[in-house]
Amino acid sequence: MTVPKLYNTEAVVLRKAEMGEADSILTLYTPHLGKLRAVAKGVRRPKSKLGGHVELLTHSEVMLAKSKNLDIITQSQTIESFLPLHNDLWRTSWAIYIAELVDRFTAEGEENYPLFKLLVDTLHWLCQARHGELVLRYFELHLFKHLGYQPQLQHCLVCRSPLKPIPNFFTPSGGGVLCPHCHSQEPIVHSLSLNALKVLRFLQRSHYAGVDRLRITPELSLELKRLMHGYIRYLLEREVKSADWLDRLEKEDIEPHRP
Ligand SMILES: [Zn+2]
Repeated sequence: MTVPKLYNTEAVVLRKAEMGEADSILTLYTPHLGKLRAVAKGVRRPKSKLGGHVELLTHSEVMLAKSKNLDIITQSQTIESFLPLHNDLWRTSWAIYIAELVDRFTAEGEENYPLFKLLVDTLHWLCQARHGELVLRYFELHLFKHLGYQPQLQHCLVCRSPLKPIPNFFTPSGGGVLCPHCHSQEPIVHSLSLNALKVLRFLQRSHYAGVDRLRITPELSLELKRLMHGYIRYLLEREVKSADWLDRLEKEDIEPHRP
């Protein structure tokens, strides 16, 4: 009999899918192994020891056994369960959205420690944030940075001149901004107000501490969301399911709980 090879890692549960009668397939994001999928056997049984330690969005220490197909989770211990994210519809939806982005933007087995850290930090911030939408925009811009898609926000992509403090244009396919003289060079552009450009630059260069103090109007918040979603759609070549859900929540006019 061969002894299965075991290994340990921290992990955040990005996604959970049911398999068979009581098992789940988990998509995990780890500090040094990148994204990996693993089986949690019997986890849907009420008495499962793994149960609460591998819930969606939980940050845990897991032990896995190598297997020919998907590796198998043999033990798990919660590091942080992010309880406030599970008690409020908005916070849950924001957190599921960032988990979905990490899942969609990464391939299995590619280490990206800064992205792991950003994910864990953002889950912490979302437990407390007053303006979840700004946290999402911060997360998106820093996700782009860690994956090599950072938009150019200082110069016009075509003529290279520094952007003037006037309305400009954002191009998802170019990954940056075009000045009013050059905007017809790209097939699809979105108008970009001066305030939106300022906020994007601020989010791109700042640490999170400054973000929660920022105050923006609902109109500006909507403009930023549309710009970032347009860019994400272009990069992924598809819609993000949980972004649609967030839009629906907004239309229902449900207020997030304030911490
Ligand atoms: Zn230009």
